[in-house]
Amino acid sequence: MNQQKNYDIAIIGAGPVGIECAVRLQRAGLDVVVIEKGGIAQTIYNYPKNMRFVRTKQEMQIEDIEYRAKTDYPTKEEALTYYHKVVEQEDLEVCTFCELELFTKKIEGGYILYVQDSRTKQKNKNIDKINANMVVMAIGACQKLKPFVVEDYTTKQVIVREFEDGLPYRGKKCVVVGGGNSGVDTALDLVKAGAKVRLLIRESEYRNNVPAHKIEELEIYENHNNIWIEFDTAVKAVFDDFVVLNDDGYIFTDFVFPMIGYQINWEFLSSIGIQSGYDLVQAKFVTQCDAHTRESDMDNVFIAGAVTGSLDGGIPKFKKGIERLVETILVRRGVEPDSDLQERMPIDGESSVWMVKVKNDAIKV
Ligand SMILES: Cc1cc2nc3c(=O)[nH]c(=O)nc-3n(C[C@H](O)[C@H](O)[C@H](O)COP(=O)(O)OP(=O)(O)OC[C@H]3O[C@@H](n4cnc5c(N)ncnc54)[C@H](O)[C@@H]3O)c2cc1C
Repeated sequence: MNQQKNYDIAIIGAGPVGIECAVRLQRAGLDVVVIEKGGIAQTIYNYPKNMRFVRTKQEMQIEDIEYRAKTDYPTKEEALTYYHKVVEQEDLEVCTFCELELFTKKIEGGYILYVQDSRTKQKNKNIDKINANMVVMAIGACQKLKPFVVEDYTTKQVIVREFEDGLPYRGKKCVVVGGGNSGVDTALDLVKAGAKVRLLIRESEYRNNVPAHKIEELEIYENHNNIWIEFDTAVKAVFDDFVVLNDDGYIFTDFVFPMIGYQINWEFLSSIGIQSGYDLVQAKFVTQCDAHTRESDMDNVFIAGAVTGSLDGGIPKFKKGIERLVETILVRRGVEPDSDLQERMPIDGESSVWMVKVKNDAIKV
């Protein structure tokens, strides 16, 4: 990163969305820098070991850069290789292990971004400054785990929040909580590793992000009594060797895996001046931005990708969401607009209705 330079755009986050924005804006002739607090595609790097995407490589490909994978559904390793290849091939300036702390608006326009080396982070020490006219926040929604809310627990040691691999749990009694893709993946991985698994799902069916083939696979294990699946069931309390359920029944267990997802790091967003909170209409956490251009309350600060709301729809949905954002930035930087862009320019006041509501009633693990 060049601290003397004034970049057209600083993109925060080198995930699939940040990288795609960077490719498109740089190809259009803008001077782009990407700030990433981990490695390239850090969120994907953090996935469980045996993870395979439920979206196809065709849906996730960036522009004309070929997405190589043995099947249509890339593995974690294939996805990581792809995003590294994109960065190298396009010669993107990506500053890894560099964390955005805050930014301030300059009187003459544009922003100063304050960043720190995330490996050696010490509060208010060794802060670097980056100047940019516009900022795209593509920080994802996987920075913060959703709290696992229970009425009581004796120890956190039995609760595994970051699942890597089933092998250590062979022969152990494992309770997996969550009927989404992560819950199902974790349950399958544990069963295959030889663990005794109970999958507890609060709702009466799987979430719609679980592909049919995974449900079929689970059912085969269930029919052979290798896994027990219970719907309309939630965990009320966690003790050393058993959990208490919402109907006051209990299950003996060695480990509990709450695979209940992530939430937007809205404390961080608020601390840098971007409003986010609980949307009463959509009943979920969202980051406030214009529904079309994705511009936040701050001029020329855009919100892209998973940080706009939930992970539902995945990468293909976020790719659609950045179309207008990229076009808006190009127009503002004086790059020739697409033919029909003027007709599709933002509609005032069309951002979503939202209010902050903080739940603070039970123990969060
Ligand atoms: C287990 C799991 C399985 C998934 N499976 C699928 C799937 O099959 N298909 C699918 O489409 N989606 C899937 N997803 C969701 C997918 O990972 C997200 O949709 C995608 O990563 C969102 O891309 P993004 O670029 O918006 O955010 P991210 O990929 O989360 O990238 C954000 C980046 O910003 C960085 N960052 C955050 N804060 C800062 C800061 N202050 N300074 C600098 N950098 C920062 C982060 O380190 C991160 O690298 C899955 C998610 C999980 C957790």
